[in-house]
Parts: sequence; structure tokens; C-alpha cells
Amino acid sequence: MDECVFCKIARGDIPAEFVHKDEAVFVIRDLNPQAPTHLLIVPVRHVESAADVNDPEIWSSIMGRAVETARRLGLDKEGFRMVINTGAQGGQTVPHIHLHLMSGRNFGWPPG
Ligand code: AMP
Ligand code: ZN
Repeated sequence: MDECVFCKIARGDIPAEFVHKDEAVFVIRDLNPQAPTHLLIVPVRHVESAADVNDPEIWSSIMGRAVETARRLGLDKEGFRMVINTGAQGGQTVPHIHLHLMSGRNFGWPPG
């Protein structure tokens, strides 16, 4: 956890642009946005990936916060996409579970 970038952001050791923060979950702007709005919803507790979640509270906190954030920012008007990349083939590059909330353009299907 010492070297984990999202744990460092949670502790305030490296800066991020926060959209929300509470004791369970935080929302930041992605450093390398792939859409006009690209947010990361991250549990404070370090869990490596979706495949490692054992406590359903993690799901309710990140999914609940993602939808609340989408509504609060008005992203629900045109629509949005939520993605959790998981593991190497799933495209996960930061090994601390996070949900991508993206909006502001059309998203293709199937995803690349
Ligand atoms: P993933 O590839 O699904 O693991 O997503 C990791 C995301 O974290 C990528 O979209 C990165 O751009 C983003 N990211 C990495 N480091 C930071 C950081 N310090 N602040 C904000 N976003 C970051
Ligand atoms: Zn972490």
C-alpha cells in the first residue's frame, strides 16, 4: 500500500483534483482523460481489483457514489459510461480497484 498511487492520493501524499471525498470513497479527475469528463471513483480501502472484492460494501460505495456523482454533475442527461478494468487482459494499470466514470462523447461498442 505504501507505493500504491491511489493510497498515496487518499493519504494526501500526492495531489489530485478531488470531486468528492469521504471516509469510504473518493472521486478524482483522471490525469489522462479519455473523454470530456473522466472521473475515477476509488474506495479508500486498498483492494487490488474487482476480482478481489469480498465485502459488498465496496460495491455499494463505489457504484452508489458513481451514480450520485453522475446525477450531481448532470451527466445523466446525455448518458455516461462506467468501466472497471480488471487484471492484465482487462486493461488494469493501477492495482487498486477504481471505477471509470466517463461522459461527454459517444462511446463505441464493443469497447476496444
Ligand atoms: P486503469 O488502466 O483502469 O487501471 O486506470 C488507471 C487510471 O488512473 C488511468 O486512466 C490513469 O490515467 C489514471 N491515473 C494514474 N495515475 C493517476 C493520478 N496520479 N491521478 C489521477 N489519475 C491517475
Ligand atoms: Zn492502494
